Amino acid sequence: MDLGLADRTYVVTGGSSGVGLATVRALLDEGARVATCGRDAERLRRIGAHERLFTDVCDVRDADAVRDFVTASADALGGRIDGLVNNAGQSRMKRLDETTPDDWRDELELKFAGVLNPLQAARGHLRASDAASVVNVNAVLAKQPEPRLITTSAARAGILNLSKSLATELAPDGIRVNSVCLGLIDTGQWTRRHATADSGLSYADWQAELAADRGVALGRLGRADEVAYAVVSLLSPRASYITGTGIDVCGGIGRGIL
Ligand code: NDP
Repeated sequence: MDLGLADRTYVVTGGSSGVGLATVRALLDEGARVATCGRDAERLRRIGAHERLFTDVCDVRDADAVRDFVTASADALGGRIDGLVNNAGQSRMKRLDETTPDDWRDELELKFAGVLNPLQAARGHLRASDAASVVNVNAVLAKQPEPRLITTSAARAGILNLSKSLATELAPDGIRVNSVCLGLIDTGQWTRRHATADSGLSYADWQAELAADRGVALGRLGRADEVAYAVVSLLSPRASYITGTGIDVCGGIGRGIL
């Protein structure tokens, strides 16, 4: 099936690693033009050059920097933006007693600015597109909180709620807004945690133990390309009647009905 993404332009935040990088690659494979950002220039450089790819250093928490990045992206890639993937970020592994007021403020700022800054910057372009789509990369934590990730769980729930409001408010402008809610996806976040866990287990054994501990029905962590498939599907003009909802990409984690 032709997803109808060729020659359209998409902005993916946090595309130098993991889910963002897999999404950038999937969009390029579909013939789309792609802009992405991250805070580290060297990691962006390692994506490699592509004639339909624009990269720039930008922290999504900085509204002015995001506006400059989005403007430069449109200028470099055909003067249009058809879709936005709000992916940049990371989680904060802390329980209540370990969490400072600064942790709460920083986490809420990252999660909300990570959606609102790119959206405000790209809104005019999205309104002009005939198939505008926003995908917020979220987590099943939004619906199934974990005490060991207390700030991230609460912030994720807020972002899921915000996504629904945005879908309603932006529908008259023809802008669809959806979420992908991730379980455990094998990216830099988990390789970093394995390195600091000092468990004595190989990465494969550590992952298997983690999947069992968290109740992942499929018994393994997901791959970034498995998430990218869901993101690209929601970006596609073929998904024209899907808004205000989300897809769980989580290998059947947990025992409840998500
Ligand atoms: P990675 O750490 O592999 O990649 C994160 C990307 O975001 C990098 O490109 C990073 O680049 C960029 N980034 C982080 N902070 C900022 C910032 N403030 N401004 C701009 N770019 C930033 O993570 P994942 O691919 O695993 O995660 C992608 C998203 O999915 C995140 O929002 C994460 O919280 C969410 N998620 C992931 C899960 C998982 O199991 N992997 C589970 C649930 C949700 P740089 O560091 O150079 O800025």
